Amino acid sequence: MLKFPIYLDNHSTTQPDPRVVKVMLPFFTEIYGNASSSTNEFGWKAGAAVENARKQVSKLINSDSREIIFTSGATESINLAIKGTADAYSHKGNHIITVKTEHKAGLDSCKSLEKKGYAVTYLSVDKYGLIDLDELKNAITGKTILVSVMYANNEIGTIQHIEDIANICKEKGVLFHTDATQAVGKIALDVSKLNIDLLSFSAHKMHGPKGVGALYIKNKSLKIKITPQTDGGEQEKDLRAGTLNVPGIVGFGKACEIALNEMDSEISRIKNLRDTMYNGIISQLDEVYLNGHPDKRLVNNLNLSFKYVNSDALMMSMKEIALSTGSACSSGSMETSHVLNAINISEDLRHSAVRFGLGRFNNDEEIQYTIHKVVEKVNYLRKISPAYQMAKKGVYAEP
Ligand SMILES: *Cc1c(COP(=O)(O)O)cnc(C)c1O
Repeated sequence: MLKFPIYLDNHSTTQPDPRVVKVMLPFFTEIYGNASSSTNEFGWKAGAAVENARKQVSKLINSDSREIIFTSGATESINLAIKGTADAYSHKGNHIITVKTEHKAGLDSCKSLEKKGYAVTYLSVDKYGLIDLDELKNAITGKTILVSVMYANNEIGTIQHIEDIANICKEKGVLFHTDATQAVGKIALDVSKLNIDLLSFSAHKMHGPKGVGALYIKNKSLKIKITPQTDGGEQEKDLRAGTLNVPGIVGFGKACEIALNEMDSEISRIKNLRDTMYNGIISQLDEVYLNGHPDKRLVNNLNLSFKYVNSDALMMSMKEIALSTGSACSSGSMETSHVLNAINISEDLRHSAVRFGLGRFNNDEEIQYTIHKVVEKVNYLRKISPAYQMAKKGVYAEP
């Protein structure tokens, strides 16, 4: 049974899993204690629930639970990782390396450091969105504090060579942070086997609640120093002051537990739906271009440019399908997405890009409906497009 609207914007946020909502509810109604209050039963119960969630979260990435710091989301984790290490290691140097296609949380953290006198290298990417490992190696200097490269891109789905990048950083003796917000729960990830020092992720991108996330901080022989970016309390090992969001953290824990248990079957199911959608569209429409890497991409991501079609017009013509144009952040402004700019596709294809983000609750019927609608609307919008008419006349007018 088809229900409208159809939600295909799972890179922006996801529907909380009902199982997640269920475990959160008692922490609003009965167990509302402050997890840091050790003086009463309300506090003990809340504190125990937080520690249980910390175990669930750490299990998903195979870390130790003591390596997990709870935050208000990936944005805060990323700020803490980048600004916190920049502050703590300013005696060592003033140089940070990141990538042009990062999420704004990373890019803006770096911009704010630049205003304070830090130097930032923004690595470029190839047409698939991948960085060049030699360019990274050459960019690292004696003054480099941190390299920050996202695991998987939220617009075009490209998955970086994270293992190689982490190894390069390890060899060169610089810290490595990855924004894994889109990857956690969709890619099996074992931080105990990877040279990742810091990793940011968020509950609401994996069917958990909004407003809660985590920063993984590797706890090896070498203790990583981070200067807290909020003052006011001793929570989370003095790294993140403020009363813990207990219901959110409990929900995050459950979302991680579900993701771990169901990841294998979910990945293949979602990939099938995504591939069905892609094949259904390109078998019926010409001049459709895939943005991002053909294989090294998130299973739930499909970013397509429909030549001669304006992406806003296409979205408005099928409002019963919830989608995003190239970038959620720059929609509403005429600026094209910084990610599509970085992979250097032509100007008209940037304005024709639509991002389909699939998730746990999508089904085949929704995908079939979407294929049908996209084909119908693209055909219609092309029919009334002067540019399309001219191009096709140019082709068919040949004697
Ligand atoms: C959504 C997202 C963020 C921001 O996460 P919040 O939890 O909403 O702060 C950061 N990075 C990537 C790649 C994202 O997709």
